[in-house]
Order: sequence, then C-alpha cells, then structure tokens
Amino acid sequence: MESFSSTYLAADADNDNSGTRPRSYNIETRHFIDGEFQGSKSCLTFDLINPTTGERSAEVSAAQAEDVDLAVVAAGRASTSWAKRSASDRRAMMLRICDLIDQNVGEFAYLEAISMGKPVANYVDHIIGTSILRYYAGKGHDIRGFTSLTTDTHLNMTLKQPYGVTAAIIPWNVSLIMLCMKIGPSLIAGNTLVLKSSEKSPLTSLLFARLAKQAGLPAGVLNILSGLGLPCGDSLARHMDVRKISFTGSARTGMLVQRAAAESNLKDCTLELGGKSPLVVLEDSDLEKAAQAAAFSIMFNSGQICMASTRVYVQRPVADQFLTLYKEKILQVRGRVGDPLDPQTTSGPVADRQQFNSIKSFLGEAKKQGCSFSLGDVPLEQRGCFVDPVIIWDPPKNSDIVKKEVFGPVVCVIPFDSEDEAIEQANDSDFGLYASVFTRDINRAIRFAKEFEAGTIGINTTSPYHCENLPIGGMKSSGTGRELGLEGLDIWTETKSVFMDLS
Ligand code: NAD
Repeated sequence: MESFSSTYLAADADNDNSGTRPRSYNIETRHFIDGEFQGSKSCLTFDLINPTTGERSAEVSAAQAEDVDLAVVAAGRASTSWAKRSASDRRAMMLRICDLIDQNVGEFAYLEAISMGKPVANYVDHIIGTSILRYYAGKGHDIRGFTSLTTDTHLNMTLKQPYGVTAAIIPWNVSLIMLCMKIGPSLIAGNTLVLKSSEKSPLTSLLFARLAKQAGLPAGVLNILSGLGLPCGDSLARHMDVRKISFTGSARTGMLVQRAAAESNLKDCTLELGGKSPLVVLEDSDLEKAAQAAAFSIMFNSGQICMASTRVYVQRPVADQFLTLYKEKILQVRGRVGDPLDPQTTSGPVADRQQFNSIKSFLGEAKKQGCSFSLGDVPLEQRGCFVDPVIIWDPPKNSDIVKKEVFGPVVCVIPFDSEDEAIEQANDSDFGLYASVFTRDINRAIRFAKEFEAGTIGINTTSPYHCENLPIGGMKSSGTGRELGLEGLDIWTETKSVFMDLS
C-alpha cells in the first residue's frame, strides 16, 4: 500500500524549537524526483518507528531499482542546463534554501524527534547545516584550474568540470548536516544529484526537498529517494549513469558501496565512515576542561556521532581525579531524560530498536569478559530505546568494546604511564577519524598532533568541534577523501588537462 503525505500532530517549536505550541504538519513521505513528489512505482513502503513510543511515525515510500532509474534520468536531463548556470545564480538559490531552512527549524526538529529520538530542545543541526551551505554557496567562483607556461611552445592548463550526474547516500544520525555536506558542494560545482536518505530518518530529506523546490531549484537538479540499502542504495551505487558517489555511513557498508562502484562503472567514490576516536588527557592538562569536553563529545546526540571520543586515555597520576570529574560532567550534560518532543528533555532514546540491541549486546559481552562498569550498566528492555551513559574502566586492549564502534553513549577510560604508550594505544585502531589531546605543554600537543593517525585533531578541544572551511575525513578504515573546506568541493569536480600549441 502506497501512503502519500500524511498529517501528524506535533508539539511544534514555532520555528525556535522550544517546543511550546502544538501544530500539525503535513509530513511528506514520497520520493522527490524531477521536481515532483511521487510514490514508488511498485507502491512499496516501509514503516518509520518512533524510538520513544514504539509506534509508527510514518509509512514511507521505499525506492526500488526502477525509482533509482527515474531519478538518475531526471538528474541527467537537468545536468547540462544546471552546469551552464552562473555561479551567482547557483549561490542565490542555495542562499534562498538556507533562509527557508531557518524559517522551518521547528519542523526539522520535530521530524528528527519522531524519527530517531533527537530532543527538540537541543536541535542544532540547522545551525551547522546552513553554515555549510552558506559557505559553499559562495564557493562556485573559486572552482579553478591552473595554467603553466613551463613549455616554451605550449600553454598548458587544467579545467575543473562537474561530473554530471552524482549520487550521495547518507546515514541517519545528523540528517540535515549530512544533506548540506553533500548537496552544497555537489550542486555548487554544477552537478546534479540523486541522494538516498537513511531509512531511519528519511523525513528531514523530504522537507529539504520541499524547501529546495520552494526556493526555485530547477526540476531534476536534486532528487531524493527514501529506501533501504538493498535495493535502493545498492542500485544507486551500481548505476552506470552515475559518475560520482559520496557515501557516509558505517565502514561495513562503505566497503559494499566501493565494491558496487568498482563492479559497475568505476565511478569515483568518497567514503566518510565510522570512528573509535581517542582522547588523551595528559597529567598537566586542565582536568575540568578536559572532562567537560570529553563528556559533551560522548553525550552529544546520545553518543551517535562518528567522531565521538569513545576511548579516553588518562595519565595515571590524574586518572582517579579525572574519572570523578568525568562522571559528574556526563550526568550534567545528559540532563533530563525523556520524550524528545518535551522542551525540557535534553537526552532522548537511541535511534531505533536495532541500535538499542546492538549497544546492549556490546555491553553484555563486555560484562561477560569481566569489564568494570564505572558508570551505567547493560540497558534493560523497555518501551523506549533509552540507554544510560556507560563508562567502562580499563577494558582488555583487544576487546570489542575498545576496538569496535558502539555508536551510543558508551566510553572506555584507560590509564597510561608514558606519552609513547598513549600514542601507541591511541593509534592501535582500524579507524582514524578524530583524535584529541589535552595538555598545557605546546610541544607535547604538537607532537601528538603529528603522531596521531587521524584525519582531524583536537588540541584542548575535541569532537564534535569542526568548522566548515577546513576538511574533515578519515585515515585507515574511517574513509577516503575529505569533505568540507575546498577539498570537500574539489571531490565533486573532475580535472581535465588542456595543452595548446602556441607556435
Ligand atoms: P549504515 O552504513 O548502516 O547506513 C548508511 C546508509 O547506507 C543508509 O542510508 C543505508 O540505507 C545505506 N546502505 C545500507 N546498505 C547499503 C548497501 N548495500 N548499498 C548502499 N547503501 C546501503 O550506517 P548508519 O547506521 O546509517 O550510520 C551510522 C554510521 O555512519 C556509523 O558507522 C557512523 O560512524 C557513520 N557516520 C560517519 C560520518 C563521517 O563523517 N565519517 C558521519 C556520520 C555517520
């Protein structure tokens, strides 16, 4: 049964996400293809379940291979005229979309709350998302190649050109930010885009599509599909007419996407994947500051952040003092747990039952291995998917809880003696997304920054801190390529060398 858009009653935010005034929203659940909302050709749908109540939030169209084809054809039709638009035109449209996002924050916050349990009270995705879009809006003029006169007889130059039809696949944890990271640079570079949202939070992307249409984005330039990894994501990654794909999600799926790209047309692939980010607290650091930053990092979005500081290494002489402070700060940051639509709530559930069960299984395994829980415990089955923050003290080096991404409010705190030991343990990971060090000694800080194997480094700060004009991305299994900054624009263009004979 195909369901089209449906109306749900919301404790709305009156656009300031303070969650005070009830309002009804018309929730769009169909795909956005060629400038129109339309259901799947097959009429297939999937249910979106609210992780707080266990009830259905929406019945969403599930894209199949034929819907992917339609979207790619539409993107192909739009691509030549979009690429010919001036950079100023593209900028104006992007800025109009940002203004519309600002006017609809309450609706974004509401949709995320009923999809993946993010509290409306601390919804900030629009602030980060529009900063990224506004940054890229102005960057169309900065796409440039270079010229060389080193050969006497020739002028040699490079041209930067859009790929044409591009694709993106995003996760659920910060949907609006992910949308802006992909849509901003892809469209500004003159590409058209087919984007698949996550089946855990598809509604935000459809609201974005509605606003893009309202802002006057031409039909086919942006196409949004909702659906499962199989068949929708896989069909997109394998599509022969897609020339570039940017994927954000787990390392496991990233490998599948890269394989699909290689097995089809060898499309260019950017991968932003998972993390297990170390944070090192040296004995000379400001412990209060380190504990506060580490607590925010693991509690932001209930720990469901790729770059969250999930392994905290503390120098032994200050380990007890740090642990006491850290527990206090974590509980403070957590604040009030409850219904994400309640404006007083600062901590909601994790995204869904699958995520809850996965965290529970990691913690159950850690318990079986005799790990010591300094805070929290294995979560109990209950109506909502709530997980209390957990600190595991000094678990075995090679245990899953140290090595694998849990994606919840779960952190390992591990004491160390020497700096060399801290660096060795911090780098002893398949991942390399973000790493941080806290110290008052600038020489030590720089040494750590140089030796950490991670794409992003924090000195006396940690994730989620980043800024839109510097690249982020992963080393090792955390990904390939970079997003944000000019590097994040460059990945959406192809370079062509042109040689002109001057004789
Ligand atoms: P996921 O890998 O399960 O899914 C990501 C997306 O891939 C979803 O849209 C999903 O439907 C799709 N997908 C699933 N199977 C597919 C297939 N075979 N082919 C193509 N697409 C497929 O990840 P998730 O659970 O949605 O998100 C959490 C993960 O994302 C974590 O590992 C987190 O670290 C990572 N993440 C990374 C960054 C970053 O910038 N590095 C940012 C946010 C999240």
